[in-house]
Amino acid sequence: MNLEQLNTQLFINGEWTEALSGEVMSVINPTNRSLIASVAKADQNDVAKAYEAAAQAFLNWYAMGWKKRSLFIEEFKSKIKQNKEWLAQIDSINSGNPIKGMLRDIDSIVNRIEQSIHFAAAVHGSTVESSGVMNLHYTRFEPFGVVARIIPFNHPVLFAATKIIPPLIMGNTVILKPSDYTPLSALALGEFIKDIFPPGVVNIITGDAVAGQAIISHPKIKRIGFTGSANTGKKILQEAAKAGIKNISMELGGKNPMIVFPDADVSIAAKHALTGMGYGSTQGQSCGSNSRIFVHQDICVEFTKELSELTEQLVIGDPLETKTDIGPLITEQQMQRVLSYIEVGISEGARLIQGGKRPKDGVGNKGYFVTPTIFTHVTQNMRIAQEEIFGPVTSILTWNDYEQMIHEANDIEYGLTASIWTQNLKWAHQTAHKLKAGYIWMNTSAKHFEGLPFGGYKNSGIGREESIDELISYCETKVVNLNLEE
Ligand code: NAD
Repeated sequence: MNLEQLNTQLFINGEWTEALSGEVMSVINPTNRSLIASVAKADQNDVAKAYEAAAQAFLNWYAMGWKKRSLFIEEFKSKIKQNKEWLAQIDSINSGNPIKGMLRDIDSIVNRIEQSIHFAAAVHGSTVESSGVMNLHYTRFEPFGVVARIIPFNHPVLFAATKIIPPLIMGNTVILKPSDYTPLSALALGEFIKDIFPPGVVNIITGDAVAGQAIISHPKIKRIGFTGSANTGKKILQEAAKAGIKNISMELGGKNPMIVFPDADVSIAAKHALTGMGYGSTQGQSCGSNSRIFVHQDICVEFTKELSELTEQLVIGDPLETKTDIGPLITEQQMQRVLSYIEVGISEGARLIQGGKRPKDGVGNKGYFVTPTIFTHVTQNMRIAQEEIFGPVTSILTWNDYEQMIHEANDIEYGLTASIWTQNLKWAHQTAHKLKAGYIWMNTSAKHFEGLPFGGYKNSGIGREESIDELISYCETKVVNLNLEE
């Protein structure tokens, strides 16, 4: 596939433009370590330029009203639908994610855009009888103005295309910063945006942490939606506070428990443990992955055997092939990080029963591949039970004391997702209520259901997305009081 036709400059004010910094960054194919492209690397002057363009575009965009804005967004959605294979291939090459998962991501884009348009009609102010029957008190939702979205590498086009929509439909103009590792599909979207949206409404700034920090430190960008690691999230909150009081929402990491009760259907649970890891789409580089599995001791042997057999069948290889389940990790550094966690697990006394190494031959030997890994005999205090590895490493912990298991499931810095496997409704609901996590599945995993708010407790984030909550979060609430009684 020829990616040379992609524009690799910054997209500001409806035009492709060189970075004022004059710098570029290399984009590497993680499957074979080859250079795919050199892409503009923005600094604070580029961010300032993008801000001016977005600020200039704001009033006209807002004045259109959501119905007219939704026509532009509909056209954007159609263009993405028409280019489904092309966009999925770009992501598969750039991120190493299996093509089948990236094709599913395009379907999710279409659904989520439709959903945002649907919800826009439901975002409206209200009148409140606050000070007597004659007076009028009402609320209005108003856009912030220029907002920014900073996104990670694991679902590049899904995040680039969907995270700009809630702010846009509410009347904001947007600066989007894709991951330094996976900017290519966002740049492909830039071509569509150029043809569809008025100049300045969407601006795309490629770059690394320097560009991200410039967005955070810009005194006039008051609303930022960040998706990425908790560590970067902490830095962002500190930096932002130096520039002013900012409204920042965060979708961060997870170390999510999958809880298997003794009455669970072991085969179905084992199958979902793989889907729940993000195999078939992200090699375990998923914020919602069920990387800690609490299995009841009565079924632990059976569950582990099933999981191990299914894991053995996963196809590791070229992400562009439809049969591939596991592609490479995103970078050399990420691969080394995952391999070092595997060493840590072994040295802490966990039992490595599967994977844990780089493939010896074939395509897997060239890129940043790690075989899907299972540890048993994992205990709560081990680092592989506590820290987000963000790779193909599953830790199995056994339990027989329910309260102790719940305590351990919650005794962790994260609280993004959890899944519960039982036929017993009472156990399922009691457990769901006790878990400190924002998104819980019972007898299923991984799927984000349309319209339901996604986000985390504790260090997994601030705020909720993928729902009407996300649209409202891109608005300020204004109250207007009219005195008619005097
Ligand atoms: P990351 O935090 O390293 O980078 C995310 C983005 O932030 C990138 O665009 C990066 O260039 C930018 N950035 C880096 N340093 C910055 C700084 N100091 N200031 C501003 N921007 C900065 O994350 P990653 O490695 O790309 O992604 C993996 C992480 O994202 C995992 O922890 C994962 O769990 C999380 N994630 C969360 C969700 C969710 O919905 N909760 C979804 C996907 C990924």
